[in-house]
Parts: sequence; C-alpha cells; structure tokens
Amino acid sequence: QHPLLHVENLGIEFRSGDRRLPAVQNLSFSIERGRTLAVLGESGCGKSVTAKAIMGILPTPPARVTGGRVLLDGVDLLALAPKAFRKVRGADVAMVFQDALSALNPVVPVIRQIAEVYRIHRGASRRDAETAAVDMMRAVKIPDAANRARHYPFQFSGGMRQRIMIAMALALEPRLLIADEPTTALDVTVQAQILDLLAELQRERDMSLMLITHDLGVAAHIAEEALVMYAGGAVEQAPIAELLDRPAHPYTIGLLGSIPGPEHRGADLPTIPGLPPQLDNRPTGCGFHPRCRFATDLCRGEAPPAHRVSAGRTAACHHWKEAMDDYQVAGA
Ligand code: SF4
Ligand code: MG
Repeated sequence: QHPLLHVENLGIEFRSGDRRLPAVQNLSFSIERGRTLAVLGESGCGKSVTAKAIMGILPTPPARVTGGRVLLDGVDLLALAPKAFRKVRGADVAMVFQDALSALNPVVPVIRQIAEVYRIHRGASRRDAETAAVDMMRAVKIPDAANRARHYPFQFSGGMRQRIMIAMALALEPRLLIADEPTTALDVTVQAQILDLLAELQRERDMSLMLITHDLGVAAHIAEEALVMYAGGAVEQAPIAELLDRPAHPYTIGLLGSIPGPEHRGADLPTIPGLPPQLDNRPTGCGFHPRCRFATDLCRGEAPPAHRVSAGRTAACHHWKEAMDDYQVAGA
C-alpha cells in the first residue's frame, strides 16, 4: 500500500535569460491517505512552486521541472500528457490559494463559477450544475446559500470568499487538497473558522490535505505531519507533535525559537539571524551552514542526506543528534 502522494527527488528550476536557478532540489516527501501534512518554511523556500508542480500549473517558462516523480496513488503525474493532467486537476488534486478575490472572476455570480466545474468536468446540465453548486455552498457553511448564490464575489467577506474557493476546489471530491496559505489574508478569528472547516471537510471526505503555511500555529492547529523546507529542499519531516516537542534539525530549532514553549504556538515563525540563500548563490554542502551554529567543515563540504531520526521521522543534517540533544538541554 503506497501513500496517496509520494514526491520523489523533485527538481524545479527557474530560467532567467540563459541563467538557470534551482528553486527546488531533490525534494522527497509523502502524504498518507486521509492525513494532513503541513509544509512549513519561510517565503521563497520552494513551498508554492512545489504545490504548483504537483498541480501541473507551474508557469513554464520561466519554471521547469528538471527531474523526479510525483506519484498520486502510484501514477506519475509528471509523466501525464497535458490532456490527461487536466482530468486529474480538480478531480483528483485540487488547490486553494491565499487570495480568493483575485482567483474568482469579479463579474460572474459565484453560483456560475462553482457550477462551471461540474459543467466542464462532468458535462452536467446548467440546472444540475447550479443545484450541485448550491449544495457545495452549503457544505462549506455559507449561510443562506440559496439566496446568496447569485451574488458577485465582492458582495462576500474575505472569509466567505475563501469558503467559495474551497467549495470550487472540493466540487469534484478530490483525494488531495492543496491549500497554499489559505488563511494568511484573513483576520485571526476568521482564520480559525476556515481551518476548522478545512479540518472537518478533510475528515468527512477522507481526503488528504497538504497545507502550506509559514505559521506554526496554523500548522499545529490541524496537521498531523510536518515537512519543513529550506532553500528548496526538505530539512525535516516528522509527526507535528514530535517536531514541536523535540525538533531535530537546526533550522527547525531556529523556527521554534531557542526556548521551547507554548508561547510560540500561534505565532509567526521567529526570525533566525541571517537570510536564506539567493537561488543563484547557494552555499556549498548544507544550504543552511552560513546560519547554523552547529556547522562544521563536513557541513561546508557535503550536503547532508536525510537521516532517519525515528519511525516516520527524517532530518537532513549531519549533526542532528547533537542539535536535538542541545535543544533538550537548553529547554530543560
Ligand atoms: Fe547545520 Fe551542518 Fe546540520 Fe547543515 S548539516 S543544519 S550546517 S549542522
Ligand atoms: Mg508562497
């Protein structure tokens, strides 16, 4: 039994003139059926381009997949012809973005935008598609859905617009939903409501959810697993409770702050001294070494492989044991 999503050695580059900039390198991770994975990291670490590659919506050019596989239930999406990929998109994998307002068409009533999904993918009649659209609006708990369905996007609040995006994404009952910073543009109360809705829909529909966020609190709220990315690669993957309790990678330790404690949950990622590397100026060896207080000559010379920390946990660090013990001592 393979995981629902298995990304293996994914590489993505940007081209700018005749320069090639590696955006993602050798990225591997999995999401099991019916589970929620939070993908954490600072902006520019490759989270969103990875999501777009899985969805087959990378802007090409300038971006290009350079290698690897994206297996959905064992089928390599990257090997599909464009027409076959269009069928998978929406039906098997769907995505919601941060900015619902720009993703919706401002001059089309929302019922028609949701109904369009059923018309295109299922060939539904207009009437059936609109009935299904209103049902979907109810499923995402838009109050008074039947009456509000003819309204335009600007007539809804930010939170309600995000619910409309979720309704469109879930219309075809995808097995995997990718949500890229779905609550970042919303205020805190509405954020929690949207996260609770996503969690509830995920459970009810037995979907897998890949939640991209820079916010540890958001991740801790609904995810079971976490993938931490840095400079285009995975640095740590672990059950989220274990990661928050006892991070193994120096970058994750930096994200949690030097003193572990509940005060960091619900907060944005604390700042780590220094900056992530530019795409065109990656350090040798481990990409994190210029910012890492555990760095040695080995780190400067050799990129660390993903070491097994425990069952279901990996850390791409030469000195993860030392870093983990140090965190324990500092936290005690
Ligand atoms: Fe730090 Fe070395 Fe681990 Fe990289 S491999 S995170 S530089 S200790
Ligand atoms: Mg992003």
